[in-house]
Amino acid sequence: MTPPPDTGDGPAGPDQAAGPDLAGVPPEFLPRTAGGRSGLAALLRDPVGALIALDFDGTLAPIVEDPAAARAYPGAAAALRRLARVVGSVAIITGRDAAFPAEPGGLAGVPGLVVLGHYGGERWAGGEVTPLPEPPGVAAARQRLPGVLAAAGAPPGTWTEDKGNAVAVHTRRTADPVGALRLLRRPLEDLAAQEGLLAQPGRLVIELRPGGVDKGKALKSYISERASRLVLFCGDDIGDVPAFQAVAELRQDGIPGVAVCSGSAEVPELAAACDLVVDGPPGVTALLEWLARRLSPA
Ligand SMILES: [Mg+2]
Repeated sequence: MTPPPDTGDGPAGPDQAAGPDLAGVPPEFLPRTAGGRSGLAALLRDPVGALIALDFDGTLAPIVEDPAAARAYPGAAAALRRLARVVGSVAIITGRDAAFPAEPGGLAGVPGLVVLGHYGGERWAGGEVTPLPEPPGVAAARQRLPGVLAAAGAPPGTWTEDKGNAVAVHTRRTADPVGALRLLRRPLEDLAAQEGLLAQPGRLVIELRPGGVDKGKALKSYISERASRLVLFCGDDIGDVPAFQAVAELRQDGIPGVAVCSGSAEVPELAAACDLVVDGPPGVTALLEWLARRLSPA
């Protein structure tokens, strides 16, 4: 994994902590990279321009045996509620369904909270879950599919299933399902490639669906939607690495950012991809509480 670009200096000593913007930052919240320190300074200067985005499990909520029992760490929701009043946007980006972190996860009361679930494929906001608009390639593939099937000589019984964010072609109902699938495979792969989709084979089915959604794409897309001027992202797992990389790429585009690792013994290698490592959900909560205090008007 690629660490965010740094300008080459090592961990900040107490003197480097400064820059007037970082005066008073507790050592445990001072990013070890120059890029991270610039990102934190930008956040302290311009909270209204900030997007604070966090993973849920292992970051805001301790990992528990039964995923359905996961809840925000004590104090985390209160800190986010306070922070949400002083920063531009607060978002959760999770592999879970979008509703869970809000309710029952414990974050529903955070003002203006948006949860991007399924790595950005659906959204919770204000108690409502909405699937995002389908990617344009799916609409084009849906429209072209009858012509492609006809040209390929798809046998009677070939059946197209519209899945909303994907279209699937089934051959189970044809006289020779395996032969029909073999016949259609190449034309469907070509169609998928032309429309920027994946042709995912299954049991007597080929599904045309968008390529990988990931937290990096979700983060970048939400930043541009909100027109955020800077970002802090916090995560704890391999699935968060694309978002850490997105923070690094955004910096190169002139958007300051801080990548925060919710550190755990289970994924020690993640720390290298981050500007700052805190100690699991208690450490994340302490960081959010400190930010809320620092940014709230006296
Ligand atoms: Mg996680």
